[in-house]
Amino acid sequence: MTHHFSTRAIHAGQTPDPTTGSVIPPIYLTSTFVQDGVGGFRNGYEYTRGGNPTRTTLETLIADLEGASHGYAFASGLAGEDTLLRALLKPGGRVVMGNDVYGGTHRLVNRVFVPWGISLETVELSDLDAVRAAVTPGTTVLWVETPSNPMMKISDIAALAEIGHAVGAIVVVDNTFASPYLQNPLALGADVVVHSTTKYLGGHSDVLGGAVVTSNDEIAEKVGFLQFAVGAVAAPMDAWLTVRGIKTLAVRMTQHSANAQAIAEALVGHPAIERVYYPGLAEHPGHELAARQMRGFGGMLSLSMVGGADAARLFVESTNVFLLAESLGGVESLIGYPAEMTHASVRGTALEVPENIVRLSVGIEGVDDLIADLLEALKH
Ligand SMILES: *Cc1c(COP(=O)(O)O)cnc(C)c1O
Repeated sequence: MTHHFSTRAIHAGQTPDPTTGSVIPPIYLTSTFVQDGVGGFRNGYEYTRGGNPTRTTLETLIADLEGASHGYAFASGLAGEDTLLRALLKPGGRVVMGNDVYGGTHRLVNRVFVPWGISLETVELSDLDAVRAAVTPGTTVLWVETPSNPMMKISDIAALAEIGHAVGAIVVVDNTFASPYLQNPLALGADVVVHSTTKYLGGHSDVLGGAVVTSNDEIAEKVGFLQFAVGAVAAPMDAWLTVRGIKTLAVRMTQHSANAQAIAEALVGHPAIERVYYPGLAEHPGHELAARQMRGFGGMLSLSMVGGADAARLFVESTNVFLLAESLGGVESLIGYPAEMTHASVRGTALEVPENIVRLSVGIEGVDDLIADLLEALKH
């Protein structure tokens, strides 16, 4: 029986506790599990690095929401990415990634994997000819992020998967910005999906986490082994908080998207703003593609300021409801200056962000309050 997304978000991987009937499965704050005789594990649980029931709940849930057969939960998004890349690469391997992927992803590959013997090339993912030229035979991983951060570019997951597969590359999609409610990359042909569950899945800015999901048994086996062997796992308390957050993902994403659309429309044409980057606007170059491959346009948008870097800095320091902070995807609205905050680590690389860009993570507060806050701050 296939249920609606909202129903699965609340119930997948979860059954009331058989001992007490507790509707919410308990948090298994334990490092180890008693054995019924040597090697007599109950339901396979032996030691929490290898597996913990609360983590299993989260892993089952995220895999279900992405339509995957295997899920793995990690201590952070980057911990998951690191474990995945170790599983896919060996020295001599080659990674091609989008030229505005998450700064930390670029740093991980460029400063940890490149010194280990991996070659890295960045490419404009929305330009399929450029991708075809970059994805040469011998490319091990094609790393895709759409919508991208912070320029909100949309790239064609199905076409990219085809280009990657033509040379035998594994196609990975970082689905953090869209969340599984708005986009399911595996259904479009990707091999692996990664999430920073810190963002929309957790949804309340109170816990760090990451996930890797796939329906490829061979990749799953390697990731599962490395999750155990390396140990960058999600702790039980963190896993539980993330499961709780996911229960409301559908209603939150609907509201994030509606609020972001209203804000984008309110800011288009404002004299202090050069351009609004939001895929829900008809004038956005990726609008039609986003409408095809996503079920909504999400809660992230960026603006370029007519007044350049100074105007951008003044703006982000002048809001009251929007809080000046890194991160995204929580119920509260955040505003950031990527050039010196989230993207400081990529200055001087192909991923450098223009210095007049401001990024908004639109929360689920009353949208009139959010618009009034932005318009007031723009008066400065
Ligand atoms: C935050 C983020 C990450 C990294 O996740 P952490 O949980 O901070 O380690 C990866 N990709 C994207 C798109 C992100 O926004």
